[in-house]
Amino acid sequence: AKSAGSNCFRFFDPSMQAQVQHRAELEAGIRVGMEQGQFELWYQPQYDRQQQLLGLEALVRWRHPEKGLISPADFIPVAEETGLIVPLGDQLLEQACQQLVHWQQHSQLNGVPVAVNISARQIHTADFAERVCAVLDRTGASANTLELEVTESMLVKDVEQTIDKMRRLRLRGVRFSLDDFGTGYSSLIFLKQLPLDKLKIDQGFVRDLLSDSNDAAIVKTVVALGQSMDLTVLAEGVETREHCDALAAMGCYEYQGYYFSKPLPPAELEARLAEQVVESGT
Ligand code: C2E
Ligand code: CA
Ligand code: CA
Ligand code: CA
Repeated sequence: AKSAGSNCFRFFDPSMQAQVQHRAELEAGIRVGMEQGQFELWYQPQYDRQQQLLGLEALVRWRHPEKGLISPADFIPVAEETGLIVPLGDQLLEQACQQLVHWQQHSQLNGVPVAVNISARQIHTADFAERVCAVLDRTGASANTLELEVTESMLVKDVEQTIDKMRRLRLRGVRFSLDDFGTGYSSLIFLKQLPLDKLKIDQGFVRDLLSDSNDAAIVKTVVALGQSMDLTVLAEGVETREHCDALAAMGCYEYQGYYFSKPLPPAELEARLAEQVVESGT
């Protein structure tokens, strides 16, 4: 320790110790939460210009017995660092597939695709494709209604194997979206090799779309790129009517964001859709 210099000092920094303890508690909590079924999926609808429902993104929420509802930003990073994201991700994928099967009986949600977020650690496990197929088999969910959201950063390591896994799942009917597009560093040549179906424009580019000409230029470029590669382009973080109009003027016709709806628990989503039918029926 004598040669460790400032590292030695930092190790005994009380705030750092508190941080280490917080993380250890969080890790233990995630394990218990997984055993006790505390993780649930909420669903955020995606729409087109005509307010037609196109799909749903599944977003995890942790219903902690003492702390209440915890958002993913507060535990996904620790789940990723500890590797717990692999069993947690499997559990969530299974939940989403069960929900899909349940909704096959629901008049308005029958056949509506559900998108599930996949972490780097998950896709890099050797048997990822087999595990996804096993979940589809076990639940009886149709692969055609399952979409997996991946990010650019996870497609840099083990590229060949990852592309191979994606190809095999696509043969089965599963679709792939590139999430947070524009925030990574991948080259366009690289992007062309990926077996993708959709680009999701990151909400960071949508937020100031009307006032920031750089953001507007990026969105236009992504839309053009998507068109030339035959990919669907969906914008995230659509919060206003103005966002929606500006995006449509740029050729983007699929939207997800608070302007349409926040993520909702399944029962609330079903109730909202039922209301809309009554509204449009009167
Ligand atoms: P993401 O995949 O980019 O998900 C979109 C996030 O933006 C969600 O936050 C959503 O609630 C939020 N959002 C939606 N519309 C709007 C809007 O109009 N304005 C703004 N400001 N925000 C909007 P959420 O649910 O807190 O999730 C945060 C992140 O946590 C997700 O970002 C994703 O990276 C991760 N995450 C969520 N669920 C899962 C999961 O099941 N597995 C994994 N691996 N990661 C997940
Ligand atoms: Ca996502
Ligand atoms: Ca995103
Ligand atoms: Ca994000």
